[in-house]
Parts: sequence; structure tokens; C-alpha cells
Amino acid sequence: MKSHRRFRARRLAEPKVDSGPGGAVSTYPAWVSQPSEHSLGQRVLESVAMVIFTAYALALAVRLAGAVGSAAQGLAVAAGLLGGYLLADLLSGLAHWVGDRFFEETTPFIGPGFIAPFRRHHVVPEEMVEHGTVELVGNTAVLALPTLALAFHGLDLADGSSLALLAGALTLSAMVGGVCTNLFHRWAHMERAPRLARRLQALGWIITPARHALHHSNSFDSSYCITTGWLNAPMDRLGVWGWLERRLHRKAG
Ligand SMILES: [Zn+2]
Ligand SMILES: [Zn+2]
Repeated sequence: MKSHRRFRARRLAEPKVDSGPGGAVSTYPAWVSQPSEHSLGQRVLESVAMVIFTAYALALAVRLAGAVGSAAQGLAVAAGLLGGYLLADLLSGLAHWVGDRFFEETTPFIGPGFIAPFRRHHVVPEEMVEHGTVELVGNTAVLALPTLALAFHGLDLADGSSLALLAGALTLSAMVGGVCTNLFHRWAHMERAPRLARRLQALGWIITPARHALHHSNSFDSSYCITTGWLNAPMDRLGVWGWLERRLHRKAG
């Protein structure tokens, strides 16, 4: 098992050294030394969202299973589940890429809550191992819940349409994969992850420490996908993120 300690190799925010009358003192910027607080109200809201999200996910999975009556329908559900899981990996990469490469930790609205945690993670990657489940996945559950509820109430799965089954399975797998992403990310940083996590890592179904180490050891400018990391190799080889960045910078002048 690879140690998460090697993730400390490079840091984006180096401590500032102030030499005052009392001698040299190293200080990190405020967004590193004082992480934004996870308030009680936030925790309650996120916990409720996680419970409702889980109920919707289970109900949609039961509905999908009950609607499959032929090989074609089974294939549609299998394709949807795979496609949705790939989509979750892509979305994790997109969010991570934006968090790492654009805006500032102090940007109004998104800075403290969205940008700073990504940058902070580069400085103190081991910190996320200490985070509780609500802190890790609660905010993603809040974001994913409306889409999952829309799929549950909006798709007519009873008539057995393969397209509806595909859409339902894709949404279910993308949203569940998305919500679980930070949990998978934490497991990739643990010295010894839980047995289930190690099993899933060994099967390659979730991001592995080795796959994620490429992000932390390569100047944080590649391997952004953190659900499974399946898309990292093709996207890094094709230089997709760098190409997108150049295009955006050119457009912005
Ligand atoms: Zn990480
Ligand atoms: Zn990063």
C-alpha cells in the first residue's frame, strides 16, 4: 500500500517567512491556516440532503431493476450505469480543474467554499483523512439531489422504454458516483483504507492511491479526475486540460 505521505512532495502555497524582532516566523495564507467553518446549519442541511438522496437513489435503483424484462432493456440499463459512472469521473475532473486553475481563494461567493478547499488540499492533503462523511460528501449531495429527484419523478420507466431506462440508469450512476467522489478521494489518501475501499481499489472501480498520486506529484496540472480516474490517462495523453486552458485564455484575451 502506497503511503499518502508522498503526496506532500509539492506544495502550491509555500509558507511566508517573516523575520520580526522575535526571529523568523513561518506563516501560511489565511485560507490555509484558517479553513472556512462547516457550520451546524450546514451540517444539518447536508445531512438531510444525504438521507433524501440515499432514499431517492435506492428507490430509482429498485424501479430500474423492476422495469427490466428483456435483454435489450438490461443492456440499456448496463450502458446507462457505465456511461453515468464515466460522466461522474469527467465531472469530478471538470470541478477539480476549475478549482485548481481558475479564480482565487478570495473570489467572492465561490472563493472560500469552492476554490480554497481544492488549493488547501494541495498544501495539507492528509487533512481530508480526518474529515467526517457529512463534511466530505454533504455539499455534493445537496447539488446532486435535484437532478436525481427530477429523474425519479420525470422519467416514465413503467412502459419499459429503453431510452428512459438508459437515462434513468445514467443519472443514477452519475449522481451516486459524483456524491461518493470525495469519499473515494479520501480513501486514496489513507494509509490503510477500509477493507471495502481496498477491494474496490484493487478492482480499479474507484480512484487508487497510485492513480491519484500522479496529480499530487505532477505540479497539480494533470490527472484531475478523482471518481475512478479512468479518464486521466486518455485526457492527459491528449492534453485536453491544457488545450482547454489555452483556448479559454485566448478567448479571455
Ligand atoms: Zn488528493
Ligand atoms: Zn488538485
